Amino acid sequence: HSPAPVRSTGLTVNSPEQMRELGRRIAEVLRPGDLVMLTGELGAGKTTLTRGLGEGLNVRGAVTSPTFVIARVHPPLGDGPPLVHVDAYRLGGGLDEMEDLDLDVSLPDSVIVVEWGEGKVEELSDDRLHVVIDRATGDTDDDVRQVALTGIGERWTAADLTALAV
Ligand code: ADP
Ligand code: MG
Repeated sequence: HSPAPVRSTGLTVNSPEQMRELGRRIAEVLRPGDLVMLTGELGAGKTTLTRGLGEGLNVRGAVTSPTFVIARVHPPLGDGPPLVHVDAYRLGGGLDEMEDLDLDVSLPDSVIVVEWGEGKVEELSDDRLHVVIDRATGDTDDDVRQVALTGIGERWTAADLTALAV
C-alpha cells in the first residue's frame, strides 16, 4: 500500500475579503463528496474562508462560527452540492459521533468542511484538501495570513492548487 500522493502550495492572503475570495475560488474546484479540513488558531480565518466557500457553492443560510453546534447543513440554492460545515472541536469521538448526528443530508453527495478536524475526520475520505491558515506575524492586528493548501489523495493529483492564489 503506497502512501497517498500529496500536492502542496503556499499563498499569502492580505485581508478578510481576500480570504473570502480564496474560498470562492476553492469552491469552483470542489465536487460532491469532497472533504476540506481547516486548521488554524482562533481568529485565523477558518470561518471567513468557509463563508467564501458558501458563496461559491451558492448555498442557503449564513455561514457563521459553528461554535454552539457541531454541524450545520447549508442546502444548495441551485443544483450544486450542499455544504456541511462542521466544528470538530466538540466532536470528541470523531467520525462515529458525526454519523450519530443524524444530519438530514447524504455526506457522499455533500461538500464537507471541518474546522479543527485533525485526527478526527480523516476516515471520512481517502482524499482531502487540507487548508492551514497562519498569521504571518505575531501581531494579532495584522491582517496578513499565510495559507498552505495540501491536496491529499488521488482526487487532488491533477489539481492546480497554485491557480487558486488570490
Ligand atoms: P476562525 O474561524 O479561524 O476562528 P474567523 O474567520 O471566525 O476565524 O475570524 C477571523 C477574524 O480575523 C475576523 O474577524 C476577520 O475579519 C479577521 N481577519 C483579519 N485579516 C484576515 C484575513 N486575512 N483572513 C481572514 N480573516 C481575517
Ligand atoms: Mg471558526
